[in-house]
Amino acid sequence: MTRCTNCGTQWIFKEKLRKSFSLDRGMPCPHCGEAQYLTWRYRKKSILITFLMILLFFLPSFFNASWSIFLAIFTITLAAGLFLQIHTFELIDKDDGDFWNV
Ligand SMILES: [Zn+2]
Repeated sequence: MTRCTNCGTQWIFKEKLRKSFSLDRGMPCPHCGEAQYLTWRYRKKSILITFLMILLFFLPSFFNASWSIFLAIFTITLAAGLFLQIHTFELIDKDDGDFWNV
């Protein structure tokens, strides 16, 4: 569950989806307006999930698979990756750094 650290309101799927496609580090809570950031732990998980998705996207090409198998793996990987990213959301009230300034 993803809750705002200020007001405690649970973010719905649509709000988390909007945040996941945003390039901004922070996003105001849709309920109280307080800035919320993704935790560094979540961002590390997200990077790992994205890396695994890219690896799976190209997996069929190593086995000379048909386009239908490639398309099926692509669709399943994309859906599973997005599901995992949205459902493992963790919010924090301040920016907790990145690769260069943890
Ligand atoms: Zn809030």
